[in-house]
Amino acid sequence: MNGGRHKVKIQEALHRLIIWTHAQVRIYFLFALLFMVPNAVFFVTEPLELPVRVAAFLMPLGVWLILLAAARKPGIVAWCLLPKIMLDGGQLIALSVFGESVIAVDMLLNLTSSNASEASELLTNILMVLAGVFFCYTVPTLWLAYRSVRGRDQLERSFRRRWAGIGMVLFVIGWGLGKVPANMYDRLSWRYDVYPLNAVYNIGFAIRKAERNSNYAQTSADFRYEATKLIAAADKREIYVLVVGETSRAMEWSLYGYERPTTPRMESTEGLVYFRDAVTQSNNTHKSVPIILSPACAEGYDVLYHTKSIVTAFKEAGFHTLVIANQKLTTSMIGSYYREADQFIDLSAIPTGSLLTSHHDGEIIPYLRAQLAQTSGNLFVVLHTYGSHFNYRERYPEAFRHYTPDKAEAIRPAYREQLRNAYDNSIAYTDQVLSEVVELLRQQEACSAMLYLSDHGEDIFDDARARYLHASPIPTYYQLHIPYLIWFSESYRQAFPQKYAEAQAHAETPISTNTVFHTMLDMAAVRTNMSDSTKAVTSEAYQVCDRMYLGDHDDPIPFWELGLKKQDFEMLDRWGIAYRK
Ligand SMILES: [Zn+2]
Repeated sequence: MNGGRHKVKIQEALHRLIIWTHAQVRIYFLFALLFMVPNAVFFVTEPLELPVRVAAFLMPLGVWLILLAAARKPGIVAWCLLPKIMLDGGQLIALSVFGESVIAVDMLLNLTSSNASEASELLTNILMVLAGVFFCYTVPTLWLAYRSVRGRDQLERSFRRRWAGIGMVLFVIGWGLGKVPANMYDRLSWRYDVYPLNAVYNIGFAIRKAERNSNYAQTSADFRYEATKLIAAADKREIYVLVVGETSRAMEWSLYGYERPTTPRMESTEGLVYFRDAVTQSNNTHKSVPIILSPACAEGYDVLYHTKSIVTAFKEAGFHTLVIANQKLTTSMIGSYYREADQFIDLSAIPTGSLLTSHHDGEIIPYLRAQLAQTSGNLFVVLHTYGSHFNYRERYPEAFRHYTPDKAEAIRPAYREQLRNAYDNSIAYTDQVLSEVVELLRQQEACSAMLYLSDHGEDIFDDARARYLHASPIPTYYQLHIPYLIWFSESYRQAFPQKYAEAQAHAETPISTNTVFHTMLDMAAVRTNMSDSTKAVTSEAYQVCDRMYLGDHDDPIPFWELGLKKQDFEMLDRWGIAYRK
C-alpha cells in the first residue's frame, strides 16, 4: 500500500520534471549548468591564485552561453558538443578517483599500457563511479538534448542575443582577471588552467608521446655509449645486479625503522649500505623505470628517445647482459630496453600454472642461478620484480602470510588493516628474494654487487585523504619515499674499497632515482660518453642538488612544489627527507 503511494509520488515528480524541462529557456540554463560541473569542481580543487581561478571559471561559462545561444534549440548545440559531454564524463570519473586535477597525460598513457589483469583488478573499484557518472551526468545531459530537439518551442531571438552578449561580457572579464597576477607564471594558461582546453591539450600530448615511444627503436638506432671498462678486479669475474623493485615504500621496511620486522635479512646482511633519504622522480612505472635504466632524468627526459639503456652501456663495455623480468612490459619502452640484452627471460610469457595472474618474484631465482652457472666472464643483470604491486596478496607465497588477516574484499578504507597486512607480507617476501640474490652472488666468489630500489611508493589509506595506489597526478609522501640500497660483496670491497667507502659516506645524502644509471656504471668502473660522476653515489664527486620530479608534461618540478599537502610535509619532516623550505 505504502510502496504504491510512493510509486505514484515518484511518477508525479518525474512528470512535473519533464514538463518543467520542456521550455527551451530552462534547457538552455540547464545545459550551461551541466557543462560547468567539472569547472565548478576545479574551482575548489586547483591551487590557482583567486583571480585566475575565477577567470578559469568565467571564460568557459561565457563560451558555453554564447554557443548555446547559437541555435534556436540549445539541444542542437549540445548534440554538436557530444565529444565534450563524453570528455566531461571521463573527467568526472578521474576527479572521483583522484579528488583533483585535469585528465593527465599519464592517466591516458596508463590506460593504454596497463595489462589486462591489472586493469581488471582496478575496474571493480571504479565501476560504481563509472555508473554514477553515466547515469547522473551523461544520460541526463543527452536526454535533455533529445527533449530540446524534439520540442516545438524555440528560443526567442531577443533572448539569444541578450545571453550571447552576457556570455561575451563574462568571457572578457575572465580574460582580464587571468592577467592580474604580477608574476607571469601565476597568470592564466590556456593549456594548463582552462577546462576542457587543458584536457584536450593533454590528449594531444599523450598521442605525440605514444608516437615517440613507439619510434624509439629508430630514433636511438645509431646511438653508441663508447663505453670502456677502466679497471678490472684482479683475476675475478665481475657480476653486477640491478634489482628494480615495484611499489615498495621505505617507511614499511624495518631496515628504515618500521616497527614490524619486515626486512630482517637485509638488516643483517654484511656489506649493505642503505640510503635513508631517497625519493623517486616519478610515481608512474612507465616513467620511473626508464629513468632508472637510462641516462634520462626529470631534468632531461628527452635524452630517452636518442640514447639506449644501461644494458647497452654494459654490453659495450664487454659484459654479458641478462634481463629477467616478472612484469609484462614487452610493448612498452621498458620492453625495448630489455630486448637490448644478450638474453631476456620474460616470466610474464610463461604460464603460472595456478590461478595467479603473475609469478612470485622468487621464481626469478632458479633462472638467475642457471644463468650464473652457464655464463663466464663479466656479467650485468637486471631483475625486474613485481614487488608490492596491487593486488598485494598475490605477490607472496602462503609461507609469507606473517600478518593476517590479509584478505581485503575491495580497495576501501574499511579494509585498511587487511591491505596493510598484505602489503607488509609482500615487503617481507621482497626481503627474502633479495637475500637469495645476495646468497647466489656470494656463492660465485666473484667480485659482485647488487643495487636495489623501488620505482615509487604507494598510498594505502594512510590519512584522512583516503588515498590509495599510486600514479596520481599529484603524488604524496607515501608515493615518493623509496627504499634504495646497495650490497657489496667481500671481493668487491677488497677490489674497490674507495667506492664502498663513498657509498657509506653518502648513506644520509639526499638522492633520487636518476642516480642509478650513473652509480651502477661507476660501481663497475665503466665510463661512457653519458657518465656523470656527480650523480654516482659511489663517487667522491657526487653532488647534492635540488631533487626534481618529472611532471605530467615531462618537465622538471622540485618535488616539494608539486602540490603536496600538509600531511605530506609532516611525513617528509618525520622521515627526515630534505627539501627546500
Ligand atoms: Zn611501478
